[in-house]
Amino acid sequence: MRETLGAMKAAQRLAGTPNLAVRNERLSRIAAMVRTYQEEIVAAVDEDFGGRAREETLLAEIFTTLSSVRHARKYLRRWMRPERRSLDLAFRPARAKLLPQPLGVVGIISPWNYPLYMATSPLVGAVAAGNRVMVKPSEHTPRTSALMAKMIGRYFAADEIAVIQGGRRVGEMFSCLPFDHLLYTGSASVARRIMAAAAENLTPVTLELGGKSPAIISEDVDLGTAATSIVRGKLFNAGQTCVAPDYVLLPRSMRDGFIEAALAAAANFYPTVGDNNDYSAIVDQKQYDRIQTLLANAVADGANICTVGEGAGRKVPLTLLTNTNSDMAIRREEIFGPLLPLVEYEDLDEAINLVNDGPHPLALYFYGRNAATIDRVLNETKSGGVVVNDCFLHAGVEDLPFGGVGASGMGQYHGQAGFETFSKLKPVLYQSRWNGMWLLYPPYGRRTNTIINLLLKRKAKT
Ligand code: NAD
Repeated sequence: MRETLGAMKAAQRLAGTPNLAVRNERLSRIAAMVRTYQEEIVAAVDEDFGGRAREETLLAEIFTTLSSVRHARKYLRRWMRPERRSLDLAFRPARAKLLPQPLGVVGIISPWNYPLYMATSPLVGAVAAGNRVMVKPSEHTPRTSALMAKMIGRYFAADEIAVIQGGRRVGEMFSCLPFDHLLYTGSASVARRIMAAAAENLTPVTLELGGKSPAIISEDVDLGTAATSIVRGKLFNAGQTCVAPDYVLLPRSMRDGFIEAALAAAANFYPTVGDNNDYSAIVDQKQYDRIQTLLANAVADGANICTVGEGAGRKVPLTLLTNTNSDMAIRREEIFGPLLPLVEYEDLDEAINLVNDGPHPLALYFYGRNAATIDRVLNETKSGGVVVNDCFLHAGVEDLPFGGVGASGMGQYHGQAGFETFSKLKPVLYQSRWNGMWLLYPPYGRRTNTIINLLLKRKAKT
């Protein structure tokens, strides 16, 4: 790993800052690679999950990657353009600019839930910004990780982009490397270790974590539409999505109506569960056991459940939980599976307080039509992102920065935000040949004081 990093740093220095054409060509190669290997990717992810809907892989791994590349190619020229900044009269006629420069070599550590896109999405930003990249994909999706190593090896030189395969030990060593930036996507507990390792090198980090993203339903919604949308967001990839709605906050009076609508929506989407190719499996036995334990413990502590369809193997049907309480693990830990607690509230204050009592979530979904209520929720809660009247789609909008806040992460990427995260936006001041700086040179005397008084007077006006 150190050799690869050394080779990348040397190559970066030798080649200098890559121009627009070089970056565009690299981006195109990412797109060509993904298109060429599309069927192998679908098959690898399917095998890794022991059942991942082909359509979900096409949408959430292939389409998303291609659309990131396309967006970057479309706007890269604009992003790379030095940006003129304003300066105070006292500095004129100097000029000020922000010059984006590649950071150098970026490290990416990615998780298993969208094993391709979680690596390619930051990769696109890092490459657009002119960096070389080392990617450490998850060991829990080994076939996809091996395929990524093969594809990247064929499409990119070893000192351009490299894939490092391996488990936790390799991840630990990877995070100790002196990258110019490190982006990690995964759980908060590992993030702490990664940040500590990166601190040794003063490597800046972007941490893309998870959390408990609420879906808040208000009284004026059409329950059928809201329930269908939430179920869709929850069951895509069987709930193994960082921005899946984790739990629902709803008025007490709407609980039974929601249960009916949600179960009907799930049965419509997936008339059967265990043998349904449209429905994805839980990635491995460890994750399956974790989800079953969350469920069993909640039930043992008094929760009630409603479910629809028969699971089989690692395919788990949508399971709604009522009568949970905030001491239960299912209400404290990110669920990351098709279990959906329904939490009733009396009034909006209570709903907002419930959200604010916990760590800031990665996403918040609000279903309602009243503009004042929407504004209240937007202003009084913090989250990585928000969707009003739908869920999880914001993650696919390239022009919206993506990232958490507080416990759900730090830093952001996607589109221009990714370009900026992986660039040094270098401030440059161009002094003019004819300028008035000499007016302030020592020895200080009447002239200097007159100028200073003028400057102070101008500032005092504001
Ligand atoms: P994971 O177990 O695959 O781990 C992620 C990566 O960290 C892997 O590459 C793994 O090898 C590496 N790793 C593990 N231990 C390490 C260590 N000690 N040092 C360095 N690297 C190490 O994935 P996970 O953590 O189960 O991922 C699920 C979590 O990721 C959920 O919390 C989910 O919400 C979050 N997530 C967030 C986003 C986002 O964009 N914010 C996207 C997807 C998933």
